[in-house]
Amino acid sequence: MTENLDPFEISQMQLYNACKLRGYDGEIYNSLSQPERFVEIKITMKMDDNSLKTFKGFRSQYNSARGPMKGGIRWHPDETAALVKALSAWMTWKCACADIPLGGSKGGIICNPKEMSNRELETLARSYIRKLADFLGPNIDVPAPDVYTNPQIMAWMMDEYETIVRKHAPSVITGKPLPLGGSAGRSIATAKGGSYCIREAARNIGLDLKGARVVIQGYGNAGSWVAKILQDDYNCKIIAVSDSKGGIYNNNGIDAYAAKEQKKRASTVVGLKGTQEITNEEIFELECDILVPAALENVITRKNSQNINCKIIAELANGPTTPAGDEILFKNDILVIPDFLCNAGGVIVSYFEMVQGYYQYFWNEAKVFTALKRIITQAYNSVVHKAKEYNSNYRMGAYLIAIERVINAMKLRGWL
Ligand code: NAD
Repeated sequence: MTENLDPFEISQMQLYNACKLRGYDGEIYNSLSQPERFVEIKITMKMDDNSLKTFKGFRSQYNSARGPMKGGIRWHPDETAALVKALSAWMTWKCACADIPLGGSKGGIICNPKEMSNRELETLARSYIRKLADFLGPNIDVPAPDVYTNPQIMAWMMDEYETIVRKHAPSVITGKPLPLGGSAGRSIATAKGGSYCIREAARNIGLDLKGARVVIQGYGNAGSWVAKILQDDYNCKIIAVSDSKGGIYNNNGIDAYAAKEQKKRASTVVGLKGTQEITNEEIFELECDILVPAALENVITRKNSQNINCKIIAELANGPTTPAGDEILFKNDILVIPDFLCNAGGVIVSYFEMVQGYYQYFWNEAKVFTALKRIITQAYNSVVHKAKEYNSNYRMGAYLIAIERVINAMKLRGWL
């Protein structure tokens, strides 16, 4: 049953369980279970071949009690309103769990950027901002890149916003290119934050990271960077990786850089010399120490979680595990570092980018990573502590911390 829920229903179910565990009443749950504002837009534009195409876009602004809302923009053919709402809820809990002074939001456009030219991508980016400019701003809601959007797209969006408001406003968007006020370390930040969490989790369970066997599903920004970091900084052995076209396996280890080169060359990791091809289903059942879902949502389910054979799952992707999958993993004593803790490095460094943008004074990478490590390690340890207090999994521990902070801010404002 729960396997048929859409991502927003899953996020509501997780929230409901957390409210129940903490003893909050139904009205508190109701006050947290819907976005403050949800905007749906239509963009019609001329394509390079002179044909007209109409795209549907969304912005979900979930909760602003703790500060301006913050959330990425996804461009994907399977984007839905339910997914955008779910992701905006998770952004709210993510910022609160990391204790940075931001609320949560998310946006998206249903499109296939892989089939579009640079000019078409630019027109789409600028149109999205024109339609939503009244609802965005450094003190209102601040977008960032997510699946299939990148720093160049953020640059066009920032430029469009600044053209509309007729002044510089770099903190309206994060994940910008460095020459336009991006932060050092932003492109690695999600993976770096995830690796700090993995380090803490390994300590918790007494796992030596040297030689630890790692499997990664999804080899884009988050997945490929975490492979490089785990290989270079912790001497882990990457034994399998995958992307949308399939996966590769080598029991003796895959070089993270060679896999990235292969993906650049062939648009997929598949075909890398010295590796054996495996499917995206098989990759979840490989025996390993650390499994990193770094692609899309709902991939660890009732169906496959019983066969997962690892010690730690580090959820770099948003929403990779269904509630039924979660229950099985908890029973099987697998330590799951929940998405909105594990992948919080991206938004933490985005927050640093906003701060640097306000002051027009920029930090070096060492300063960014020192501050990131302190914030995410503190968040990780408070989640462990909370989960122990409530005898729950870490996802519930993270929810309890986040919702307590959001409710407190809402109460202080007089909203509750
Ligand atoms: P990306 O677009 O750079 O990479 C996505 C990767 O997933 C690609 O390699 C793609 O081929 C692969 N993929 C797509 N469908 C797949 C499938 N069915 N099976 C296997 N692989 C598949 O995106 P990203 O920025 O790396 O984001 C990945 C996940 O991490 C998303 O859930 C995103 O929301 C989450 N995340 C990313 C950031 C960030 O800063 N990049 C921050 C927080 C969360």
